[in-house]
Amino acid sequence: MFESLSERLGSVFDRLTKQGALSEADVETALREVRTALLEADVSLPVARDFIKAVKVRATGQAVTKSVTPGQQVVKIVHDELVRFLAGDGEPDALKIDNPPATILMVGLQGSGKTTTTAKLAKRLKDKNGKRVLLASLDTNRPAAMEQLAILGTQIGVDSLPIVKGETAVQIAKRAKTQANLGGYDVLFLDTAGRLHIDEVLMDEVQAVRDIAQPRETLLVVDGLTGQDAVNVATEFNAKVGISGVVLTRMDGDGRGGAALSMRAVTGKPIRFVGLGEKMDALETFEAERVAGRILGMGDIVALVEKARETFEAEQAERMAKRFAKGLFNMNDLKMQLEQMMKMGGMQGLMGMLPGMGGMAQKAEAAGFNDKMLKRQIALINSMTKKERANPDLLAASRKKRIAAGAGLDVAELNRLLKQHKQMADMMKKMGKGGMMKQAIKQMM
Ligand code: GDP
Repeated sequence: MFESLSERLGSVFDRLTKQGALSEADVETALREVRTALLEADVSLPVARDFIKAVKVRATGQAVTKSVTPGQQVVKIVHDELVRFLAGDGEPDALKIDNPPATILMVGLQGSGKTTTTAKLAKRLKDKNGKRVLLASLDTNRPAAMEQLAILGTQIGVDSLPIVKGETAVQIAKRAKTQANLGGYDVLFLDTAGRLHIDEVLMDEVQAVRDIAQPRETLLVVDGLTGQDAVNVATEFNAKVGISGVVLTRMDGDGRGGAALSMRAVTGKPIRFVGLGEKMDALETFEAERVAGRILGMGDIVALVEKARETFEAEQAERMAKRFAKGLFNMNDLKMQLEQMMKMGGMQGLMGMLPGMGGMAQKAEAAGFNDKMLKRQIALINSMTKKERANPDLLAASRKKRIAAGAGLDVAELNRLLKQHKQMADMMKKMGKGGMMKQAIKQMM
């Protein structure tokens, strides 16, 4: 299912090959597909809707970095927004286990992987944090479940509360608290009974245990493969018991990932860990970046866009430096400089950055020296042929007329641009000859 999202996006994005800013229509088409794919990945409708809205705001009109396609750029934006949705406000993922013994209440449906996750977390706290951990199963309905936890405990070298037949869940919880206190444990895990479905009896029992146990954390374990159902379970548990976080299991399977997205958005509770297999160390802290990459199945594109941007800029700078060192400066060089200025926030932006230049910006503006002028100059250069850009000396009157008309401007403006270019080129030549440019560049690098 992860594939279907990336495939869908892939085919739409292939069609978005034209360079320049992302048009509203481009974004619209891509987002229709993203929406369908999200719904197929089991993201709930309101969440998908909110998500699309957020991406649209960010994508429309955004400039496309050279050497990636607009499609790839949209993937990057979708990815970043996924991360934002998944990570929420970025609560700390470390479990609250100060003030020993800290109780961690584990809740969830039967078969969600609750017992396994309890043992995995216990092992993690023991191995990584050097904590003394006590395990207790409260599943009075299924003696097998109690034994399962005890067996896992032995396997990972963590103590478990001795099983006493005939006790209620609340009685076991009390005994476990006492034992944790007396035994000097740092952390106590209470593995509550699961049911196949949410029912009143189950919720009442979990509430009673919660009130006795006063847990520092209440972690809900849900099966990541169950998609929308997992979200409903989380909503119910959060409303009735109050959870502090979610553990999504079976994220090693070909799950649809949509659960993760909805879970965070609907419950507002962070996903703290993900289960990635049956083994005791198959548990990782939840990282929004990784899961977003998985949902999109396009992790490399995100990296590509970032890299392309960096590489392109580095290559461009190097190429220009080499040309300048030789005293060369043609229309392509000028265009690149003008574009660089636009990128840095235009005239106003540039001058605003320089201390004491605020007033200059106004004067320059009054002299017609503004962003519009930059844009007009770029348009004029765009209207030239390759040969003309490489060698502006070719520009006889007829060519000038054609170029100005192509940019929708008059020849006088083109002449001003040519004069400006000539001054800069002459300066470059002088500096190039004297080796001054080489030195200046060396100093800059
Ligand atoms: P409980 O009824 O909620 O306590 O569920 P269990 O802990 O007994 O887990 C049920 C089954 O799911 C067991 O066979 C586990 O090994 C398996 N399981 C638990 N977590 C994961 C996981 O993250 N990935 C996979 N593939 N299997 C898991």
